[in-house]
Amino acid sequence: QPVVAPATQHTATTCCYCGVGCGVLIEHDGEKILGVQGDPEHPANFGKLCSKGSTLHLTGDLDARALYPELRLGKGLARSRSDWDSALDHAANVFAETIREHGPDSVAFYISGQLLTEDYYAFNKLARALVGTNNIDSNSRLCMSSAVVGYKRSLGADAPPCNYEDIELADCLLIAGSNMAYAHPILFRRLEAAKAARPEMKIIVVDPRRTDTCDLADLHLAILPGTDVALFHGILHILMWEGWVDHAYITAHTEGFEALKSLVREFTPTAVADICGIAQADLLRAAELIGKSPAFLSLWCMGLNQSTAGSAKNSALINLHLATGQIGKIGAGPFSLTGQPNAMGGRETGSLSNLLPGHREAGNPEHRAEVARYWGVNSLPERPGLSAVELFEAVRVGKIKALWIACTNPAQSLPDQQKIHEALATCPFVVVQEAFFTTETCHYADLLLPAASWGEKEGSVTNSERRITHVRRAVPAPAEARPDWVITCDFARRLEQLLRPGLPSLFTFLDSESLFEEYKHLTSNRDLDLSGLSYAILDNQGPQQWPFPAGAQQGTARLYEDGHFPTASGRAQFLADPYCAGKEKRDTRYPLLLNTGRLRDQWHGMSRTGTAARLFGHAEEAVLSLHPDELRRRSLQTGELVTLRSRRGELSLPVQADENVRPGQAYLPMHWGNRFLKGLGTNVLTQPAFDPLSKQPELKLSGVEVSKAELP
Ligand code: SF4
Repeated sequence: QPVVAPATQHTATTCCYCGVGCGVLIEHDGEKILGVQGDPEHPANFGKLCSKGSTLHLTGDLDARALYPELRLGKGLARSRSDWDSALDHAANVFAETIREHGPDSVAFYISGQLLTEDYYAFNKLARALVGTNNIDSNSRLCMSSAVVGYKRSLGADAPPCNYEDIELADCLLIAGSNMAYAHPILFRRLEAAKAARPEMKIIVVDPRRTDTCDLADLHLAILPGTDVALFHGILHILMWEGWVDHAYITAHTEGFEALKSLVREFTPTAVADICGIAQADLLRAAELIGKSPAFLSLWCMGLNQSTAGSAKNSALINLHLATGQIGKIGAGPFSLTGQPNAMGGRETGSLSNLLPGHREAGNPEHRAEVARYWGVNSLPERPGLSAVELFEAVRVGKIKALWIACTNPAQSLPDQQKIHEALATCPFVVVQEAFFTTETCHYADLLLPAASWGEKEGSVTNSERRITHVRRAVPAPAEARPDWVITCDFARRLEQLLRPGLPSLFTFLDSESLFEEYKHLTSNRDLDLSGLSYAILDNQGPQQWPFPAGAQQGTARLYEDGHFPTASGRAQFLADPYCAGKEKRDTRYPLLLNTGRLRDQWHGMSRTGTAARLFGHAEEAVLSLHPDELRRRSLQTGELVTLRSRRGELSLPVQADENVRPGQAYLPMHWGNRFLKGLGTNVLTQPAFDPLSKQPELKLSGVEVSKAELP
């Protein structure tokens, strides 16, 4: 019999990298992924993929994959191969014993914006309903928790009101703290095409560094790091002075304008130009472009969010939209971009310690009672849970004794990295549920559980524009790797036998669809209502934007078109937050301010992109960028090895002269960990200070000094 090659099939899913959420068609033979194409039907990307998305099929390297459960029975011992039953029984016993002895808050879960919505939901139910702790937080805390707070405080709900088409339809775009060209490449290409078709569209980029995104800008405001609030207050000052505010909108739909007016009085153009380190003429021009624009849209990302003033930065920017009535209409509105592929799904399912499913608050007794009733448990925990930085500090000082980490690499991505390594090394029991065993965090796993990865599991994700896509399994996971929700529920069933024996199981899910079906009813009558949605609708009608209430025919493209906001009064809130400088300032010992960010072709800690040689073509190693004057001042040359020091640690790496970085500043990509750098990685330098409301840490502003490396 001749051997017939299996036919190539195509399975529709989404890219697993950024929050644009591009549709991808996986080419496969049922066993192996052979290639990828952009999905021409997907409304995020219409068939296009960036350098990362188009190489997805080259990144599944089995040499880097976790394939079998591995368990170590004591610190200092090597892990050895286990089987799923023994591994999960062991984990359930350790968690149950820890909870009995030290209480439910002695355990914690740290999960990820890479997970699917169904995975998130299972973890939330496990932590809050079964264990009885709010100690469940996500790496999305590092990414967009300031935007969550910003939307909620100003508009009443965590809901980006715009969509991707609005980016193309705007007349004036303000891109603040976002290098879209690298971080959201396909959206940037859509913007490039729109600007080419309508050159009269004006683009303002606010970024201390001149990035590739600035190539498209009519105006680049290279503000000093951390001065965004002063800038936005200064722009509002000019808008009011020039009469470019919409008084009718302010009167009809907002509250709090008078208090803000008196605050911004002191933010004169002279004062703001001085604080922000920009020309007054540029500030006036920015205000004029915004004030005279028929449709003004703002986009922002980590530059605003990763800050001790992240919430205030978000609110100050949203103030500009409320003052000009530029929200709830075509081509206008405040539009935060999410970093991770399903950070939005995490927000929806309540995967930050202070949230509950359906955009509820863990601190709200009514919300807790609603969810408890739905889950069939007596109550949900009232004690506040810990956010990412707080949670790992609690591990380090011994308050948390059993930690479950899923699909994320805190040993690399959290600030003040040496303390995180200390925490992981001393934690009595660390479980790591992960597809790639190569991450720094896996090194600390007492129990390593192999997870299925992209293309190997089914579920749903929500992208930056509130659009939900059904992601599908194309090929089986390798060896014994399992989908995340399967691992979580299997563990949960074992734990409930120990913690609540004899009671009906809370985790009877048969498949990812049954998780979605249970979860969606918790959103009913909430602002994000997706109770009318199903896998079948997503399959038949394509990806949909929430809200999608029961009986709806299609999703909702734009929010707040009627000027009604989900606040107590139905009005949007102006917030008069003062401008506060960053926590670390330049001084004689640390005279440079370090900014961190993304490269075009790498993703996060490189566990996936680091396996594809082609993706090192754009930048093959971590290099520190300094203005040529700073190199001259220190008698350094491009290519020389330097030591970069902050108050927390040091790294050795090459330096390069870069005119795009202003004097007094430094720039370093965030991707490299200790697999690639001498020392621990970029975050050995960054500070753990965080925003008081969003608890998002200040990853983009740390005092540093650079000197020639002393060679051994
Ligand atoms: Fe993937 Fe983002 Fe690139 Fe789209 S833009 S292909 S989602 S990395």
